Amino acid sequence: MAEIELHNLVKTYPGGTSRATDDISLHVADGEFMVLLGPSGCGKTTLLRMVAGLELPDAGQVVIGGRDVTYLEPRKRNLSMVFQSYAVFPHRKVADNIGFGLRMRGADPDEIKRKVAWAADLLQLTPYLDRYPAKLSGGQRQRVAVARAIVMDAEVLLMDEPLSNLDALLRLSFRAELKKLVAELGTTTLYVTHDQVEALSLGDRVAVMRQGRIAQCDSPTTVYDHPAEEFVGGFIGSPPMNFLTGTVVAGGDGGLLLDLGAHSVPVPEALRSFSDRQLRLGVRPEAFEVARGGDLESPGGLGAELEVFEPLGSSVLLTVSLSGHQVKVQAPPSVRADPGERLRLSLPADQCRWYDPETHLLLE
Ligand code: ATP
Repeated sequence: MAEIELHNLVKTYPGGTSRATDDISLHVADGEFMVLLGPSGCGKTTLLRMVAGLELPDAGQVVIGGRDVTYLEPRKRNLSMVFQSYAVFPHRKVADNIGFGLRMRGADPDEIKRKVAWAADLLQLTPYLDRYPAKLSGGQRQRVAVARAIVMDAEVLLMDEPLSNLDALLRLSFRAELKKLVAELGTTTLYVTHDQVEALSLGDRVAVMRQGRIAQCDSPTTVYDHPAEEFVGGFIGSPPMNFLTGTVVAGGDGGLLLDLGAHSVPVPEALRSFSDRQLRLGVRPEAFEVARGGDLESPGGLGAELEVFEPLGSSVLLTVSLSGHQVKVQAPPSVRADPGERLRLSLPADQCRWYDPETHLLLE
């Protein structure tokens, strides 16, 4: 095992108009599972390929296990890779596929046999060792690709969207298998995906990328609950975080309020410097509490009009109008309401996130 240190990695492709990675630094601890998450084109694959040695940076350093490998050939870096196109050899049986890298390395046949059996057992491929890949399901083929990577005993495992070719159900079951496997192996892992659920489920930490930079790198809970920038709150979560702009005004009791038009929400004292200025409120859809009818405008209550009601099975999704702002609210499945109906929303203070309207960065 080994830690990965990336220092100020810059990469621009020939003819590229912007930097694919723009001064990225990242530290992946020994045995950590780090996920690189972000929209298409944000530089995830480029970063992974520089760690692998398949791409050279214009500037910066890649250090693995304390060794500067920035310009070292991929095969000398002691890492294994699993890619999106799970490139198993169609004309080789599963056992040959799994042992391929070891044979290339000139490993002893007994060792190859032992390791292939070990990996096949871990990934539940033992019954298929004598089959050709054409006779396997997509999920089984993907497991072969993972088995081929783990037999190499590499210090570092790199994976680029390894589940993206699987259908939704297989993806779900294989995701859990992969999580268990990597935890057992304890290999330092760097994993690329644009799927936020996969990222939150798998990562010890998630590095959320945007336009060649890391917007936030934190535990899944922190990136979800305390998005460091509005972009992160908007990218993670389905539906995404709601953002409302209002003006900070003095409340009757000397406290501060965010004036949203017909409603106001208490603002923490620490944000007093925003008095008479605009401020952005970020709220997750499930952070609202919903009640029907009753005293809609009671203290702390926000009266809202329901525009769209969507039953989603395990929850209901409400699109409401709140002081003219369109807001998404996710409520328990027991909540029933009709479009046009008035609802009472309440918003616990600890569920409010505050953003600077100019920088879009988290304040509180
Ligand atoms: P995706 O999720 O779509 O794979 P990504 O986040 O992995 O995207 P990269 O593939 O790293 O993003 O691409 C980052 C930027 O670099 C993009 O603007 C892309 O168009 C550009 N790029 C990637 N590979 C090359 C290449 N070989 N030549 C020129 N530009 C490239």
